[in-house]
Order: sequence, then C-alpha cells, then structure tokens
Amino acid sequence: MPWIKQDMCTSCSLCVNECPAGAIELNADGFAEIDEAECIRCGRCHDVCPEDAVRHDGERIPQEVAENLRWVRRLLGHFQDSQEQAAFMERMVRFFNKQKKVRERTLAAITAAEDKPVAGIDAAILGLSKNRTTDSSKE
Ligand code: SF4
Ligand code: SF4
Repeated sequence: MPWIKQDMCTSCSLCVNECPAGAIELNADGFAEIDEAECIRCGRCHDVCPEDAVRHDGERIPQEVAENLRWVRRLLGHFQDSQEQAAFMERMVRFFNKQKKVRERTLAAITAAEDKPVAGIDAAILGLSKNRTTDSSKE
C-alpha cells in the first residue's frame, strides 16, 4: 500500500482529489495521509504527486520492524529478572508466530480466490465462520 512521506508533502491536495476511494485527507498538520482501511491500492496518488511524496509500501519494512522492536523493548522494561525476560520473549515469539499464521492463511485464501474473487472470498469467510475450531497449538 502506498504511504505518504510527510516531510516531502507540500499539501497541494492533488492526491486527495484524485483518489477514487476517498482514502486520503489532509491531517491536522496539513499533510496528506492515507486511510489504510479504505485504500484500494490503485496507485493514482503515486502517479499524480508532483513531489514524489507517495512512496511504495516496501520502503516501510525496516520502519515497521523497528516499531515492533521498540514495542518489545518497551514491554521488556516491565521485567528485571533475566528468567522473566526470557519467558516474556517466548511469549512475544508466540505472538508474532500467530500474526504470521494469520497473514499466511489470509494470503492463501486470497490466492486461492484469484479466479473468482468475490465468490472465493465469501466461501472462505463462510468456511471459517462454520469451522470456529480455534487453533490452540502453541507455535
Ligand atoms: S499530491 Fe503529493 S504533495 Fe500533494 S498533497 Fe498529495 S502527497 Fe502531498
Ligand atoms: S492507492 Fe488509490 S485508493 Fe489508495 S490512497 Fe492512493 S489513490 Fe487512493
């Protein structure tokens, strides 16, 4: 998904006006900001921006990893004892493994639905709601 590097944005609103999903607004500081939940990933904002301020998603991977690590580091501050710290780290490994599993299964369902996207996604959701056996395995 595209994102906006705000120190490059001049608040011209071209992307706001071009977005077919109404997913961009100028925030309180006057810079464009994309609502991830509404963005349909069409790329028009990227094409129209005269400042090259609309950036590709992959550029954010290091930043997002750093955010995760800062979060883990902050929570680690609750534990002084090395054994407690180790136990907490194991819990975080389980948490991120679960996140990975959710993403992998979402990706598999989307890939399987490529030929008939609407029917395929609906069938996948129906299948999941019928089969609510929680995966209690601890990865
Ligand atoms: S088109 Fe570019 S410079 Fe203009 S508001 Fe959008 S992101 Fe900012
Ligand atoms: S990629 Fe398309 S839908 Fe998403 S913010 Fe840009 S113009 Fe809007």
